Amino acid sequence: MTAQDAPTTAARTAVITGASSGIGAATARQLAAAGFQVVVTARRKDRVEALAAELTAAGHRATAYPLDITDRAAVDAFAASLDRCDVLVNNAGGALGADPVATGDPEDWRRMYETNVIGTLHITQALLPALTAGGDGTVVVLSSTAGHGTYEGGAGYVAAKHAEHVLAETLRLEIVGTPVRVIEVAPGLVKTEEFATTRFRGDTEKAARVYAGVAEPLTADDVADTVTWAVTRPSHVNIDLLVVRPRAQASNTKLHREQ
Ligand code: NDP
Repeated sequence: MTAQDAPTTAARTAVITGASSGIGAATARQLAAAGFQVVVTARRKDRVEALAAELTAAGHRATAYPLDITDRAAVDAFAASLDRCDVLVNNAGGALGADPVATGDPEDWRRMYETNVIGTLHITQALLPALTAGGDGTVVVLSSTAGHGTYEGGAGYVAAKHAEHVLAETLRLEIVGTPVRVIEVAPGLVKTEEFATTRFRGDTEKAARVYAGVAEPLTADDVADTVTWAVTRPSHVNIDLLVVRPRAQASNTKLHREQ
């Protein structure tokens, strides 16, 4: 990359959803370190405010905005509050339950669709005008390998993540010719503090079994590193899709566990 090609991060703003924990918080830290002004959002006000304070104390530019992305009016008010937006990282989301299709709770399916898909739709629609007006925008969609293949007990989450993948792919087709690129990052097994605990509604033993015997699952920092790399490529380079898994995971259903 030549200095001329490299998108400058000076005065550029990155919005990260779901930045109160895990991959979102790690991505906010890395994008701030890369020079972006970061706006960290999630529902938990105390957490996003603490993260913004931490980043500011470290000499970075960061602000917090508590936000539920399923609330369209709140999302629109958030968009109206921003001076600019150059990068949007659609990270908020997650899984609820791991039940078979035969017995899965339709309410879990609805909530997963609402958060992962409709939430991403809301904020992408609300920020697309600013991303375009800035002249060099990037939309990142944190889908999952669950957006590219299924596994038993995963159908509700897999369906939502497939929809998120379709959102990213279709948006890329529709806005080609505008100065906005669409990057999808699809991680496999990532060991974050809350993802599996949320999925199993606070059952930490069940959550621990997800990672049992896996020597080195991905970390939030590994995924944040991938997102930051993709976002800092020259503006004309669009990383359509990046699938990133731990070495111990060959597919959604082939995970090596040490005995
Ligand atoms: P976490 O559970 O740690 O993070 C989820 C984040 O989403 C939290 O910050 C949560 O914050 C936020 N969130 C949830 N619902 C809403 C909402 N309605 N409005 C705004 N924010 C919301 O999980 P991870 O960091 O592990 O996952 C981040 C993303 O990566 C998710 O989309 C997940 O599906 C995806 N992913 C995760 C993998 C993994 O193995 N961990 C693998 C592949 C993809 P708050 O509760 O404060 O609102």
